[in-house]
Amino acid sequence: MCIFCDIVEGKIPSKKVYENDYVFCFDDINPVAPVHVLVVPKKHFDNINELANSPEGALYSAEITKAVAEVAKIKGVNGAFRTINNCGEGAGQTVMHVHFHVIAGADLTEKLI
Ligand code: 5GP
Ligand code: ZN
Repeated sequence: MCIFCDIVEGKIPSKKVYENDYVFCFDDINPVAPVHVLVVPKKHFDNINELANSPEGALYSAEITKAVAEVAKIKGVNGAFRTINNCGEGAGQTVMHVHFHVIAGADLTEKLI
């Protein structure tokens, strides 16, 4: 059982922002900024390591990158946004279906890196 697979399949409702054959993008249920969208591949990969090592990894990675840019454009923040991926429990990953947070609309000047 995977929450994000259920969201991709429409079994769990979500606020869709963008979708194509490869990705599903929706508002985070617990936003940390005015714009907080999750970009999720429709195929299940546990994390970025599994994505990278999959035969379809290059295809999905490219589609995720395009979707991140598309989401930022749709939300009107393509000039200033941040993309975050947490890989593994130690880095704070709580949903074990790889996803990329697109965050904007808040003060992003404070940087960890
Ligand atoms: P992680 O901590 O794994 O990097 O990010 C998981 C994210 O998924 C969190 O920001 C959390 O708020 C979000 N999330 C968890 N469950 C749901 C859900 O059922 N619906 C939506 N829209 N977001 C969720
Ligand atoms: Zn999944």
